Amino acid sequence: MNDNSYSGATEAELGFLKEIVRMLPAGLTVQDAQGELLLVNDAAAAQLGIDGSRPLADLAPRREACRQALSAGQAVVTEEALHAGAARQVLLTTHRPVRLAGRELLISASSDITEQKNFEDQLFRSAYFDELTGLPSRRVIEHRANNLLARDRGGERFALAFLDVDNFKHINDYYGHAVGDALLVELSKRLGRDLRDSDMLSRISGDEFLLLLSPIQSQEEVAEFMQSTLERLTAPFFIDNSEIFASTSVGISLYPDHGRSFETLRQNADIAMYRIKNNGKGLAAFFDASMEREAQARMKVEQSLRLAILEKRFCCAFQSKVDIRTQAVKGIEALVRLRDDEGVIQAPGSFINLAGELGLIDELTHLVLAEIVKSIDLINDTFGAEATISINVAAKQAGNPEFMRSFAQALDETGFPQRFMIEVTEDAFVAKNHFQTEILPMFRKLGVGISIDDFGTGYSSLSALADITADEIKIDRSFITDIHKRPRSQGILRAIESLSEALGMTVIAEGLESHEELAYLQAATKIRYAQGYYFSRPIFLEELKLATPASSEARISVASRPVQHNRQGYSRASGYRR
Ligand code: C2E
Ligand code: MG
Ligand code: MG
Repeated sequence: MNDNSYSGATEAELGFLKEIVRMLPAGLTVQDAQGELLLVNDAAAAQLGIDGSRPLADLAPRREACRQALSAGQAVVTEEALHAGAARQVLLTTHRPVRLAGRELLISASSDITEQKNFEDQLFRSAYFDELTGLPSRRVIEHRANNLLARDRGGERFALAFLDVDNFKHINDYYGHAVGDALLVELSKRLGRDLRDSDMLSRISGDEFLLLLSPIQSQEEVAEFMQSTLERLTAPFFIDNSEIFASTSVGISLYPDHGRSFETLRQNADIAMYRIKNNGKGLAAFFDASMEREAQARMKVEQSLRLAILEKRFCCAFQSKVDIRTQAVKGIEALVRLRDDEGVIQAPGSFINLAGELGLIDELTHLVLAEIVKSIDLINDTFGAEATISINVAAKQAGNPEFMRSFAQALDETGFPQRFMIEVTEDAFVAKNHFQTEILPMFRKLGVGISIDDFGTGYSSLSALADITADEIKIDRSFITDIHKRPRSQGILRAIESLSEALGMTVIAEGLESHEELAYLQAATKIRYAQGYYFSRPIFLEELKLATPASSEARISVASRPVQHNRQGYSRASGYRR
């Protein structure tokens, strides 16, 4: 519309235009050179609170913007944050200076972008702050450290501490995730106490925190500070009616002594923390060069384990579970072995935990099953077609429905799932996950038996047994060794025995090595089954096939002698007394 048509507009047309301006969905204002409002349409009146629908916004900034835009003589686009009490409204406003009827005026059009802005803020917060604890994220602490590194003109030192909560997985499994989360929040509060404004605590993942202490004067000062922090953490936490004890392991690196980049400092703090984890936990250590060599050696083991899995360099040794009265083999247990880079056979103690940490254990369990299936004819020939076949499953796997589903399916696909038993430690049963309620029934449906392995070494109490549904309970070797000489263990054994009887579980004594132990079990208990070197060491089937009398277990055991196997499947290894 040009001036001509405008001046020639009829009264009706003018009224029509006025109404349109009034009802425009965007806020529209016209201000004079002093910033006074000459025209305010309905949307602007609502935005600014002039219509009384919300508290009146502070109009001073808008007047100031008006003066600036007029003196600049060109359009400006601004984001205006209008605060009315706690509520915040954000407007995206275009101010445009115009000359109309000989006057300098400012036309401003605003749209409300509050929602979009809130969403952006939320995105920003989640990128830079941890939702659970409200602590800054890894990015923020890295940024802070990089600033310190860039600013350093020599002489300024800082410390980076890597903190990892000990056994957090256990706590999470046992008490459930809600309690685990609450514990992390409480922990972060205790950790954050006594920090200076120039320090920063950050949560970088699950149960891992980074603490930046800057500036620092000396290593001693940092050691003292960390010591008092750790002491604060040893007091119990009261969460959800539980008294929870938690400890934290800490590794510390110092700038510039232990690295000149954030990444190196973090890695070295991590290496120092790892040393603490392996040496009793709950303490703090500073990085030193010997730790680096250790870390490299560990890396080598990791690499070779990954390679072994990739190349399927695993095999199984089988150990029989024997009826101590008739000497018949009730079943066998498959025990995994690794052939390392040099062809030496390694027992699981050297790699099972690492395989768990590296997420390789599921694959390993499937490999064990595949090996059993491949050798089933030989297994039947050796131990009898009735013998049950036990496979060990780590507690961590047992609580993982995804793995357990795939494992159940693989057992089903063998065509003889009812031959199998899975051995899990008691921790899997008491953990607050779906093992008992959802996972176990899946296996029961297939006819797969359930065995509680290493009973007596875990976190559960005897009374927890009452809630566990299993077919078999294996009493840990630590109770069986020298049982004939240990009245306390005898008492425990009797208790487990009668409880298991009441619950209909078969009891197996693990690690039976001597004739005296056997004689005690036979004379003083009703225990029917045992597993141990006394009857047979774990054996390799190929060796039986080749009819070699010497067990290849000889290669992994320090003191071993040839074992003779008979067709009933046990070896009378009376020479294996220790
Ligand atoms: P476990 O399931 O309790 O197996 C019994 C362990 O005790 C075996 O050690 C066996 O060789 C050893 N043993 C048996 N009888 C005696 C004895 O009379 N005296 C002594 N001193 N030891 C005896 P191994 O084969 O080194 O296995 C250690 C652990 O590794 C197993 O304990 C099991 O928890 C784990 N493991 C073995 N194979 C697998 C597997 O395929 N998957 C998983 N997740 N864990 C496995
Ligand atoms: Mg076992
Ligand atoms: Mg065991």
